[in-house]
Amino acid sequence: MRFFNVFFTLAIVLTAYIGDVIVFRSKYSDSLKFRAITDSLVHASLGFLSSLIFFCHDYNLSVHISALNVTFCTIVSSLIDVDHAFVARSIYLKDMTNLKHRGIFHCTTFWLLITTIILLYSYLEKKTNLYLLSFMLILAYSSHHIRDGNRRGLWLYPFGSSAPIDKPLYLFLLAVLPHLLACVYHIGKSSFEKSIPVDFTMVV
Ligand SMILES: [Zn+2]
Repeated sequence: MRFFNVFFTLAIVLTAYIGDVIVFRSKYSDSLKFRAITDSLVHASLGFLSSLIFFCHDYNLSVHISALNVTFCTIVSSLIDVDHAFVARSIYLKDMTNLKHRGIFHCTTFWLLITTIILLYSYLEKKTNLYLLSFMLILAYSSHHIRDGNRRGLWLYPFGSSAPIDKPLYLFLLAVLPHLLACVYHIGKSSFEKSIPVDFTMVV
């Protein structure tokens, strides 16, 4: 597993770096369609690799469940961009790429609020599935927002937006966050699993 973690971490950095070159600096980058498709693919790939790293740390899940969870994170991290259509009130790329402000799914404080509520509820009520879901959502939006943040900063409503994230910091965050989230997930999970009283009627 250690080999896969190192491999996937390098793959994240290379995907982000090469992906940005292809999306924004290739000879096809003037095409809105090309940029929209490749940008979505890079977001999906980063969500995919981030969740692969996260689930490589969990040896208790079956391959089938892990694959479903990785698919979910991949789809969510790519689907965040659908809010361009909501803000533009149009499905045409020329409208979606000329927006004056970002949509709700690009608001980092919106996701922080939602995931903190789910996380606290699942932790206090010891709902393992909801607890995992909150981490999967964090994985999906954090990889998307950090990548977008390289150009536009993080949107922290109502506090405004941060400065654009420097390229080295952006690559570092993308590579480190899935490992950090996996560690926090396991520490939290083991602490509330310990506190669940053993139901002896199950073994009598
Ligand atoms: Zn986006």
